[in-house]
Amino acid sequence: MINDVKGIGESTKKILQKLGISTIQDLLSFYPFRYDVLKRTDLLYIEKEDKAIIDGMVESTASVYYINKKLNKMTFRMRTGNLLVTVYIFNRAFLKNKLLPGTEITVIGKYNPRNNSLTATDIRFSLLEEIPKIEPVYHTVYGISTKKIETIIGKALEQELDIEDFIPQIYKEKYHFLDKEDSIRELHKPSAIETLKRARARTKYEELFVFMMKMQYLKNNQASKIGFTRDIDKEKVNAFLKELPFTLTKDQMSSVKEIYEDLSKEKRMNRMLQGDVGSGKTIVALIAMYMNFLSGYQSALMAPTEILAVQHYKNMKKLFAGKGIQIALLTGKLKAKEKKDIYKELENGSIHMVVGTHALISEAVTYQNLGLVITDEQHRFGVRQRSTLKNKGMTPDILYMSATPIPRTYALTLYGDMDVSNIKTRPSGRKDIITKVYKEKEMKQVLEKMYEELLNGHQIYVIAPLIEESEKLDLENTDALKEKMEKAFGKKYNIGVLHGKMSNEEKESTMKAFEQNEVQILISTTVVEVGVDVANATMIVIFDAYRFGLSTLHQLRGRVGRNDLQSHCILISNYEKERLHIMEQTNDGFMVSEEDFKLRGSGDLFGQKQSGDMRFALADIKKDFSILLRAKEDSTLYLENNIEDSLTKKILENVQNLS
Ligand code: ADP
Ligand code: MG
Repeated sequence: MINDVKGIGESTKKILQKLGISTIQDLLSFYPFRYDVLKRTDLLYIEKEDKAIIDGMVESTASVYYINKKLNKMTFRMRTGNLLVTVYIFNRAFLKNKLLPGTEITVIGKYNPRNNSLTATDIRFSLLEEIPKIEPVYHTVYGISTKKIETIIGKALEQELDIEDFIPQIYKEKYHFLDKEDSIRELHKPSAIETLKRARARTKYEELFVFMMKMQYLKNNQASKIGFTRDIDKEKVNAFLKELPFTLTKDQMSSVKEIYEDLSKEKRMNRMLQGDVGSGKTIVALIAMYMNFLSGYQSALMAPTEILAVQHYKNMKKLFAGKGIQIALLTGKLKAKEKKDIYKELENGSIHMVVGTHALISEAVTYQNLGLVITDEQHRFGVRQRSTLKNKGMTPDILYMSATPIPRTYALTLYGDMDVSNIKTRPSGRKDIITKVYKEKEMKQVLEKMYEELLNGHQIYVIAPLIEESEKLDLENTDALKEKMEKAFGKKYNIGVLHGKMSNEEKESTMKAFEQNEVQILISTTVVEVGVDVANATMIVIFDAYRFGLSTLHQLRGRVGRNDLQSHCILISNYEKERLHIMEQTNDGFMVSEEDFKLRGSGDLFGQKQSGDMRFALADIKKDFSILLRAKEDSTLYLENNIEDSLTKKILENVQNLS
């Protein structure tokens, strides 16, 4: 236990807990986030405030000032070379009696040439041998210093370490890795830069190897999990494909085939259907639902918003008309009685397909024979549905859809446990959306562009970051925009407003009016960001565009360009022109997301999965991508040949927590 380490009392224990440290194991893997390399210096050569190691002799007796019970500051004068400097050090009052004039000391600290003072972090009475000194720096919280953490870890390292090495012997030899124990000691008490580097490389590899082992196992295990076998009437599927209003693209077709294979096999499907906005994922999902229906199972399609659920519902009604398929829409606005009826029909199996929001897998819903669950815009949900389903004792096949293109680095770790189908190209005939950034003072030009589009009989989305005026934020809002648009176009065109505060009925009827071209300009907040599909809308105007991440802008832009007409995206912003220019340069979601990642980091993308096994103590999946690839290769091979191995068993002990 952590209390076994000398110097850890109750209060320290509590503080360490704040840092996520509750066991000795945690403590040992609480690695420094940075190292300072200190050299012995002559103060004459220090020009700006800088860290240094300085030898000198105490000149005057130290005086101590008690700031409060917990904080004291000691001051004394030290001679170094020809210079007299004032040294400050906190919380070392106990050293006062050792610091007698004439004592030779070495001080480690920050020198400030402006007032000729040295704020020390450490004082040594023997000559410091290990020069240059590599000093670990730890993350801290209030109440504990990096020095204190270093001391505690130092104490822990004095004991015999009980640590498990998760790197198999063959790879240890292959890569000439340091021993695990040596490596941990090196990370906390570096002896030389070279060995520190080796220790870091080894630790990163181990973290990523363990992670990839788990991912790989989950993927295999998912596959061997018993799902349903299906007998899908291929003739009927082919006939259905011929009836579609368009021919599928090559990538759509191969995705359909992959899903067909998965559904036919006994193994449980766990597949991600990835494709940029407008690539046509919906139809692939609906075909999957049809195949599932043909084999006698129910399917559920989950959307992140009600607007999107309604749109899917209408689509299905049209597509599956006359096929004897009972389709239900389950949303929050249904009356209790209506909901109850749907629940009953789901339970007795008279509903074959159901569309809705997360309510679909909520507690109240029982299915007769749920065979397929599809999650649209998966990145919006987080990753929890699978465990919800698992808890309910169902093992339907699962298909996720995501339009957020994820750079290869992230895809590998995020979707490492899934099969992935990729739709790379958009349906043929689609033109790139022309994107242009304008300043607010160029509004006249923007209005002219809009007018041109309206004259051609097309519709326009107008996006604002806020609903109503805010005192704090000087941002465009839907209320004010409505006035503006009314003034410019109100005589000839109808203008609608859509935002999150409206009731579902209001939202739905506005959306319907826009779909049927009764409304030509739809002013909205980002509620239209995901999935909405109105082909005649060929322009989107986004106000205060700098407020949005590039990926969000790309999603918003994806609302247009949904047929073979030329579409436009207008970004209005007085700021961050450079970042927004990326949008002008590319229509490729992968490029946009790469840029977004560069600028903002992985951020919210990982959602809940990031907490938990995705957090590495040292490894960074982007910076250490080459190590990740190696770990993936090695783990795949290792798992194939050593599934019964005791090391494998240890690594996979808690793997269920991941899924
Ligand atoms: P997303 O992948 O963004 O969800 P959708 O599935 O909404 O895209 O498809 C975008 C639009 O393209 C829809 O109107 C859809 O009907 C149409 N579409 C899908 N596949 C094709 C195709 N192969 N040929 C022509 N249009 C298609
Ligand atoms: Mg979609």
